[in-house]
Amino acid sequence: VVRTRFAPSPTGYLHLGGARTALYSWAFARHFGGTFILRIEDTDLERSTPEAVQAILDGMKWLGLDHDEGPFYQMQRMDRYREVVAQMLEAGTAYLCYSSPDEVEAMRERMRAAGEKPRYDGTWRPEAGKTLPPVPADRKPVVRFKNPLDGEVSWDDVVKGTITIGNKELDDLVIARPDGTPTYNFCVAVDDWDMQITHVLRGDDHVNNTPRQINILRAIGAPLPLYGHLPMILGADGEKLSKRHGAVSVMDYPAKGYLPEAMLNYLARLGWSHGDDEVFSMERFCEWFNLDHLTRSAAQFNNEKLGWLNNHYIKQADNERLAQLARPLMEAAGAKFDGSPELPAVLALMKERANTVNELADAAMLFFRDPQPDAALMAQHLTDAVKPALAQFAERVATVEWTKEAIAAMIKEVLAANGLKMPQIAMPLRLIITGQLQTPAIDAVLQIVGRDAVLARVNKYL
Ligand code: GLU
Repeated sequence: VVRTRFAPSPTGYLHLGGARTALYSWAFARHFGGTFILRIEDTDLERSTPEAVQAILDGMKWLGLDHDEGPFYQMQRMDRYREVVAQMLEAGTAYLCYSSPDEVEAMRERMRAAGEKPRYDGTWRPEAGKTLPPVPADRKPVVRFKNPLDGEVSWDDVVKGTITIGNKELDDLVIARPDGTPTYNFCVAVDDWDMQITHVLRGDDHVNNTPRQINILRAIGAPLPLYGHLPMILGADGEKLSKRHGAVSVMDYPAKGYLPEAMLNYLARLGWSHGDDEVFSMERFCEWFNLDHLTRSAAQFNNEKLGWLNNHYIKQADNERLAQLARPLMEAAGAKFDGSPELPAVLALMKERANTVNELADAAMLFFRDPQPDAALMAQHLTDAVKPALAQFAERVATVEWTKEAIAAMIKEVLAANGLKMPQIAMPLRLIITGQLQTPAIDAVLQIVGRDAVLARVNKYL
């Protein structure tokens, strides 16, 4: 059985790197019909907020990364951590340490001065035949993990290959503070054990934590999960992705008009590959994603590619769905929806070139406001030579069959009868009907705007 987890700390928004970690953990569980667990690591009381928890849940929901168990909150598991601390003290894999913070700092200072790696010097570490110092009065101890003194910790990272750290590099980690609250690496180890996690996928900023967690897991007799540390995501300039690069919160993307399927497809490829496949559904991704072909090097965020994918999914999207997304944006921009034309039909006409729903909504506005063509432009395009043709056009509009094809054929006949070329009537019509010169094909525009509105607008210029 495969059990994976996404374990965000709720200290901000759900950022792109976190979303990718979640996506890979989710897809891996789905690939094997396993279980995907959501765990909120909220023990940093100063930095964790309920808003950030909500932002994570919202982001996961928008992306459709559904969890099978949880969300579990570490703050609700305090009793369990205390229990394991007590068991470790009992078993001798942890010990009480009465060194004060000042004393610990002084030790570290001494080691630094001696050119050694600063670490706890083991004053309170019990060893066979060793007498511990007398317990100071009125001092609450921390609990330290009795890290092995020798040997090394090694794991086959599914992304980075074998990683080995000497135990000498590792400190006797504090696992519980003087007030009894457990510390980060300890909680993660206990959780991964209790939640029977088989595969830990996370950002490579956690590589340094892994040997500590492995030692704790060993000490408590827990099986080790497999670890995979994903390289970070860089901005286009090669720097670590940050606010400077624009949106880094996943939930900025729906606001900017991105579809979740585009974001998912984009994130899937950002650090993993499947031959030349660039465009694929999440169903396909879950079928393919088995931890092979994870990229070892950092991935660079590429906004153009995301836009290209978004355009692809906009073109595929149901027009009613696009209308639901675009309508509020257009209303805010002053669009009047009085029944005609139908927004989904307009979006179908315009979506070919839109990279975002917001661009699409913007482009569609030309159908939903009163056209106010520039007078000089109008004079330039609606010349005396064109006016008779426009009058004939208006007459024919009243009776022509209202399909794109019939309208196109009718315009051709009017042009031929007046010895004109297409742009000579298409341009003034565009101005009259929409107020601008850039529009989709004039026959499609006329058809969508509707016979009555076309007549009303053209008549103003006759
Ligand atoms: N809470 C950690 C973070 O948000 C992740 C811990 C883990 O995945 O083990 O970076």
